[in-house]
Amino acid sequence: MPRIVVEAAEALLDQEIPVLDKGFVRLVDYMGSDERIVQAARVSYGAGTKTFRQDRGLIHYLIRNWHTSPVEQVILTFHTKMPVFVARQWVRHRTARLNEISGRYSVMKDEFYVPAPEHIRPQSTDNKQGRSEDRYSPEEEQEIIRIFEEEQRQVYANYQRLLDKNVARELARNNLPLSMYTEWYWQIDLHNLFHFLRLRLDSHAQYEIRAYAEAMAQCAKAVAPIAYEAFEEHILGSVTFSRAESEALADMLAGRPVGLEGRALTIFEEKLKKVRGSEPCDPPEEPQLGAPNTEGWALEPQKTS
Ligand SMILES: Cc1cc2nc3c(=O)[nH]c(=O)nc-3n(C[C@H](O)[C@H](O)[C@H](O)COP(=O)(O)OP(=O)(O)OC[C@H]3O[C@@H](n4cnc5c(N)ncnc54)[C@H](O)[C@@H]3O)c2cc1C
Repeated sequence: MPRIVVEAAEALLDQEIPVLDKGFVRLVDYMGSDERIVQAARVSYGAGTKTFRQDRGLIHYLIRNWHTSPVEQVILTFHTKMPVFVARQWVRHRTARLNEISGRYSVMKDEFYVPAPEHIRPQSTDNKQGRSEDRYSPEEEQEIIRIFEEEQRQVYANYQRLLDKNVARELARNNLPLSMYTEWYWQIDLHNLFHFLRLRLDSHAQYEIRAYAEAMAQCAKAVAPIAYEAFEEHILGSVTFSRAESEALADMLAGRPVGLEGRALTIFEEKLKKVRGSEPCDPPEEPQLGAPNTEGWALEPQKTS
């Protein structure tokens, strides 16, 4: 069976997608595509789908029903450059394999993240982890940028002084800050990349890591466009209601007052806003699957293993 080649992904290979002021995402390589997901799924379902419409229906079916193992057959390798504080959040995603630049071996470059003025915001009052919508005056924004840059210059000058004294690189880096840029190779399968993207494309994720997630989403979409569409349809665009929220929804539909208040009501209203703003894709064709395999996969009811 020949290697799967996807034109849109080939066009992205080795291209640096700029992120933040000095970072990037570069798709180094990929293995498999929508076609590989379908091939792998056929092992479960027997000779099944053949046409594009049927393949699309099958991929939607798999992702909608959390039959994720065929999606794990697609692999993407990225080279990315990001501030250390972004890497700290990123590294929490444990299902990837990575190799990072070594500050013991290499002299760290004089490259630090300085936020663009529009991203400099005061502390949010209702979200302890986030920024508010308010902006500083242009003068204040410039002053804040000056403070960031001044400190970065100072800390790097001291790093160089320590290197000049021949202090070991592994120790000289001791005071280097979270804003310093680092680089790594990061390899992940498509299912776990979708998990990463679901968490890091979310509006609750910090803007800086979200910017990287957007660039990686662009790569995932190029590599496996149908799977990405299904991810957007069934995962990214879906809304989960808790039991209390489901009850509130039923009350709302029946014209009864909603029994939620305070923060619970705000969260519920945010979810309703997402529901109202969603734009579903064209409905996919339901796949005609072969006999369920030994895992017992069947059309309905959905089953996970
Ligand atoms: C908006 C936001 C805010 C966050 N805030 C904080 C914070 O304040 N403090 C903080 O520490 N973290 C924080 N995190 C990180 C978060 O708790 C997760 O660690 C991170 O999102 C990775 O998710 P994950 O574990 O599901 O992903 P992965 O590591 O990719 O794992 C995927 C799934 O595999 C399973 N898994 C993988 N490895 C193991 C293992 N060793 N043991 C058991 N199960 C495993 C789990 O089911 C997991 O869901 C935040 C994340 C987000 C998106």
